[in-house]
Amino acid sequence: MKNLLVAFLVILFTLSCNPTTTQEDMTATAPTVRPDYVLVIHGGAGAMSRDKMSAEDEKAYRAGLQQALDAGKAILANGGTSMDAIEATIHILEDSPLFNAGRGSVLTNAGTIEMDASFMDGATLNAGAVAGIKTIRHPVSAARLVMTESPHVMLSGQGAEDYAVANGLEVKDTSYFHTDRRLRQLNRAKSKEETASLDWEESKYGTVGAVALDKHGNLAAATSTGGMTNKRYGRVGDVPIIGAGTYANNATCAVSCTGHGEYFIRNVVAHSISALMEYKGLSLAEAGDEIVMKKLVAQEGSGGLIAVDHQGNIAMPFNSAGMFRGFVKSDGETGVAIYRD
Ligand code: ASP
Repeated sequence: MKNLLVAFLVILFTLSCNPTTTQEDMTATAPTVRPDYVLVIHGGAGAMSRDKMSAEDEKAYRAGLQQALDAGKAILANGGTSMDAIEATIHILEDSPLFNAGRGSVLTNAGTIEMDASFMDGATLNAGAVAGIKTIRHPVSAARLVMTESPHVMLSGQGAEDYAVANGLEVKDTSYFHTDRRLRQLNRAKSKEETASLDWEESKYGTVGAVALDKHGNLAAATSTGGMTNKRYGRVGDVPIIGAGTYANNATCAVSCTGHGEYFIRNVVAHSISALMEYKGLSLAEAGDEIVMKKLVAQEGSGGLIAVDHQGNIAMPFNSAGMFRGFVKSDGETGVAIYRD
């Protein structure tokens, strides 16, 4: 009887010490056995801070992230693949005008929208990407099609558009992608010389990405973006460059990046995380720390990434003020966050 009482008190104490993840406490527990599934998402890194974001905006961003997580989770919980889950997740974020991907993408210096996306299958190392997309509603699906249906890894411009259309993807008028908020951001960016002085609303970043581990032990990663506000038209960022903005390998991890793309290309960030695990035996957290918090910081390359490894460990390092992010695991652990603290 006494033992029973002690056990009861221990359970009560444990429960009271482990409330559901608070919104900015995003340290996921390291799993002892591989979870059935894990999904991690981001909605871009940038200069978001509590004092600069309105309560309304904050609520909308959190709701958008949650909706995206729910869409992917439904697929993974039903035994679906990591690839189907990340594609469905990113569709939600591409359709939302809040995030810099699909509808709501940022504008080039010519006032146009040019979107990039990529997709990678960790089981086969097969990968696909598109650059400079202007009319495809879901660029992430165009990237997946390049991966599955073509012998190539990357298609750009009109060739990418034509390929997506020929494979049945939905086309939208260019006006569908434009929002007033992004026009205001472009005008402000053009009138400022120092990008460092931009506040979160004027921030150049906001890419979306998702990585997942499914029931079958397969990892996948995808990223989709409008790029950077006021980028020179024709500029291609890190997102469609496999190994820079996106990487997945069942032997190591799946990674999706967000931040100042030129730095992510020069440092081949997504593949570096995988390589540090594969060749140096670093943990996912150590690899993320090494690249995002040391290497990129030393170069003033702002941004972050989300990643999940083959055992279901999660890492979400970022060196910017904030990063829209969220995760869900099959054991019920979940969270959505924006700021550092
Ligand atoms: N990495 C993206 C780019 O440079 C921007 C972002 O993540 O927000 O195109």
